[in-house]
Amino acid sequence: MVAGMAKPSADTTRGASPGEATAPAVRLLDHYLAVAADSGASDLHFEPSGGRMQVRVRIDGSLRALSPPPRGLESALLTRARLLSRVNLAERRLPCDGRFHWQGRSSVTLDLRASFLPVDGGEKLVLRLMPGDGRPRPIEDLGMDEADLALLETTLARPSGMLVCAGPTGAGKTSTLYAALARLATPRRAIVTLEDPVEMRLDGVTQVQVDDDAGRSFAVVLRSLLRQDPDVVMIGEMRDGESAAIACRAALTGHLVLTTLHTADTLEAVVRLRDMGVASYLVSATVSLVVAQRLLRKLCRHCRRQSEPAAHESQLYRACGLAVPRVLARAVGCRCCRGEGYSGRSAVFEVMNRDGGVDRPPRRTLMAAALVAAGRFDTSFEEAVAACPAPRQSVAGANDR
Ligand SMILES: [Zn+2]
Repeated sequence: MVAGMAKPSADTTRGASPGEATAPAVRLLDHYLAVAADSGASDLHFEPSGGRMQVRVRIDGSLRALSPPPRGLESALLTRARLLSRVNLAERRLPCDGRFHWQGRSSVTLDLRASFLPVDGGEKLVLRLMPGDGRPRPIEDLGMDEADLALLETTLARPSGMLVCAGPTGAGKTSTLYAALARLATPRRAIVTLEDPVEMRLDGVTQVQVDDDAGRSFAVVLRSLLRQDPDVVMIGEMRDGESAAIACRAALTGHLVLTTLHTADTLEAVVRLRDMGVASYLVSATVSLVVAQRLLRKLCRHCRRQSEPAAHESQLYRACGLAVPRVLARAVGCRCCRGEGYSGRSAVFEVMNRDGGVDRPPRRTLMAAALVAAGRFDTSFEEAVAACPAPRQSVAGANDR
């Protein structure tokens, strides 16, 4: 290609780009973004597949295919995305990230994060749609019940200690932390975050992106942040023993620390911290609240159908110490939900209050919270079981007594 032969200077890059991102490519990307915005999608995937570009959209956690772009427009479509994301147009051999704000023809706007990755057969682009209008939700809207919300608010009102959000990727942990930060962000508090990546910009919060290549590794930035006289420190994820130990010491020395751990539930989060080499006394002295969570698909209100619980369903309700509901609702599928039987998602929580350094069993496990949601017809029994860890033997036994 001639463009590739040209001397790589800023001028050639700028000169070549607008011509490549043609008007049809602009319209095409607008089309996909509008589809994603209309359907409440979280991500858009563009990738080479069988000699063509495959386009998929993630809605309520599941990927669905969209019609592929007309042949010949694939490259221009990626260029358009690169231009919007302000990433280097010439360097396509290395992964790169960017972000942009998009305004549709109606008043729809999106904040997007773009990730470009060279893959076999070309390039894969994933666009992450930031939830809402790029603002965090109020903590009252996270979906916690009153008792759990009260515990969270008490923890956030303290000057020190640690709030740990637990769960797998895509469980909504970051949304919860952002909601907490938004609650804390006042001119009276200095708040710093260490994130990889920064998912949403927050007013009144100093946010730092981890960048290993630039020498801004997790532990290096974390130590530096603590010298910046913060009141509140948010650490995107405690990934190793070193960052965990620094985080715990920060929580012990007059900082409120908010962080996440990649564990199944609240109890496992405490165990993991100890496994990461953090001394037991530090864990006891610092971790004030552990919140585990999952996002459950909500049953479509237009087509859900009621039926009596089966024997194994009743059994699980009893095992979780819950009354068996007379009826449960089932996923069916209709035009409104594109045949899925589900539309939208909501969070369920398991909250472990460690006030005073004692592991108190959560009032309600994730599974119990999900089964309660199923009993309200918010979700299905199948979705609850698929999304939540099975009840521990001891917990089930304790509740049976
Ligand atoms: Zn439906």
